[in-house]
This record gives sequence, C-alpha cells and structure tokens, in this order.
Amino acid sequence: MSEKKHSKVIIIGSGPAGFTAAVYAARANLNPVLFEGPQPGGQLTITTDVENYPGFPEGILGPEMMDKFRKQAQRFGTECIFKEVTKVDLSERPFNLEADDDKYTADTIIIATGATARLLELQNRDKYMGYGISACATCDGFFFKEQEVAVVGGGDSAMEEATFLTKFAKKVTVIHRRDELRASKIMQERAFKNPKVDFIWDSTIVGVDGEKKNGHPALTKVMIKNLKTGEITEKPYTGLFFAIGHIPNTSIFKGLIDMDENGYLITQPKSTKTNIAGVFACGDAQDSYYRQAVTAAGTGCMAAIDAERFLESQE
Ligand code: NAP
Repeated sequence: MSEKKHSKVIIIGSGPAGFTAAVYAARANLNPVLFEGPQPGGQLTITTDVENYPGFPEGILGPEMMDKFRKQAQRFGTECIFKEVTKVDLSERPFNLEADDDKYTADTIIIATGATARLLELQNRDKYMGYGISACATCDGFFFKEQEVAVVGGGDSAMEEATFLTKFAKKVTVIHRRDELRASKIMQERAFKNPKVDFIWDSTIVGVDGEKKNGHPALTKVMIKNLKTGEITEKPYTGLFFAIGHIPNTSIFKGLIDMDENGYLITQPKSTKTNIAGVFACGDAQDSYYRQAVTAAGTGCMAAIDAERFLESQE
C-alpha cells in the first residue's frame, strides 16, 4: 500500500460538474486531484449530439465535449486519476479517501459523482442491453427506424423520449404503472397529440425475450403485466427504453453526509456546502430537478469557489 498523498482539493467525478470544479480550482492554484470514477466523462459519454450547451452552435458529440472539458481542466494543472473512490472518512480534517489500494487525504472534497439511469430488474435484461434495451433515446433512437418501440415511465423524461423516438420509430408505446402521468402538462400534451404515440396504463414490464440476428441478441418480445387485472400480454417491440428516473451515485456517502430520501446530497441554499464543513456537492449528485450539463457545470464552478473560500477562511 502506497503512502498517503495529500491535496488541498479532491474532486470525485468527471462529468461537467467535476471538470468545471477542476478548471476553477486549478486556476485558483489549488492543484486539484480529480478521480474519474467508473464512467470517465460521466453520462454525456453515452449520448450522441449535445445541442443545448451554449458555445457550440452546431452541437457537439457528448464524448468529444467531455474530452474538451478534461483537456481544459488539465491545461491548468488538474491531475486526473482514472480510479474510483471507494471509501471516504469525513470524521476529521484532512479527510481520508481510498481509491483501489491507494490512500489520499484532502483539506476539501468536491463531490461530483452524478447519477445513473434507473432500470427495472428483469431476467435477460442485461443480455438485451444495447441490443434493443436502452436508457437513452437520444443515444440509441436512430437505430430503431420504422420499428415498434416502447418507453417505460410517466415523467417528463418518458414524454420527451417518446416524442423524440417518433422521429425514427413507426410507433411508440408509453407503458406507465399508473393511470395518470407525472410529467408536466406541456410535455403530456405534446405526447398525447403525437399520432405515433399511444399509451398502456396501469402496467409494468415483467419479461423480455428475443432471438439471435447477425450473431447478436435482438429484442423481439416484451411481456407486459396489467397491475390491476394481473393479465400478462406479449408485445412485439424491438426497442424498450427505460425512463424511470435516475439514482444518484452517492452510496459511499450514506450515513456520512445528509441526503434526501432518494439519496440526493443536500446542499445549503445558494451554496454547494453540505452538512460537513469542507465537503461540497455539485451536479446531478445533488440535483434531481434540472439535471443538465450546463447546470451541473454551473454548480461545479460554485463548488470550487466555495472550496477556495473555505480554505482561505482556515488559513
Ligand atoms: P421522474 O419525474 O422521477 O419520473 C419517473 C417516472 O418513472 C414516474 O412516472 C414513475 O412513476 C416511473 N417509475 C419510477 N420507478 C418506477 C418503477 N420501478 N417501475 C415503473 N415505473 C417507475 O423522472 P424523470 O422523468 O427522469 O424526470 C426527472 C426530473 O427531470 C423531473 O424533475 C423532470 O421534470 C425533469 N425533466 C425535465 C424535462 C424537461 O422539462 N424538458 C425533461 C426530462 C426531465 P410514478 O409516476 O408512478 O411515480
């Protein structure tokens, strides 16, 4: 086991929030160390075009944008470590962290661990993940030209994805576990008005199956259970998109930092301060509402400024 390495600022996470925090912390001469985590570049690395990030009038590919974020952070001296932080001890300062077998200490920690799409537990799910099953219509919609697909969920994401998928698919069915949507009225109306979108209410998915095509698995069947009658029907969808929310990547902070009932870290109003002095949270790990690259980047900037001011106040 190596000796502990000390930093003024350790940033955990490598999405827009983490890298923006790194740019600001590095430019404040704090020599930040950033842990990239299990998905370097974060959720945008599994999307295609990003068209709503200001400054890119023609749009930019998600992975390319995250490479640019990383390069900008490194240009000012951020050290990026391609490891996952698996344990933190926040009981005293400097804080202690572990990544693989290495140990680190930090005067401040910026948490930018993001969130992960929620999926339903289904037998065979992983077999068809990427071969019919997806959690990102923006990434994969293109592959479903003239096919029949389903979207699971009743929130804004489900409506957005269903409407988006009609650009490619022949028909899109929204499958929701209740008989009323959670989505905002405007998103609901857009979906209701779209002739290619229909709805199956009070229902959930209980199984998926498929066949082999061109040497790959290919989804061909989705089993749907009506939760009121118990009846199970089989539908010939070749695409199944989950849009049932996200889970914040905050499990290593459980019991250490205040979080809401869904695991989102709680920050003080107009600040990225958590309940632990010297620990700041930004991006989707503390935001279940906006969840945009640009808002995550904004809170990353706030976290770096908060960390810098905290360090100054300790001197
Ligand atoms: P959400 O609002 O939490 O909706 C999740 C949906 O999935 C709900 O309809 C929920 O059903 C359903 N669901 C959750 N767990 C399920 C399970 N185990 N089985 C079946 N269904 C399940 O999540 P979201 O749609 O991703 O939106 C997150 C936030 O981002 C929201 O604040 C939303 O307004 C915002 N957003 C905004 C836009 C936009 O304005 N353009 C677009 C996307 C997202 P119940 O309704 O029964 O709970």
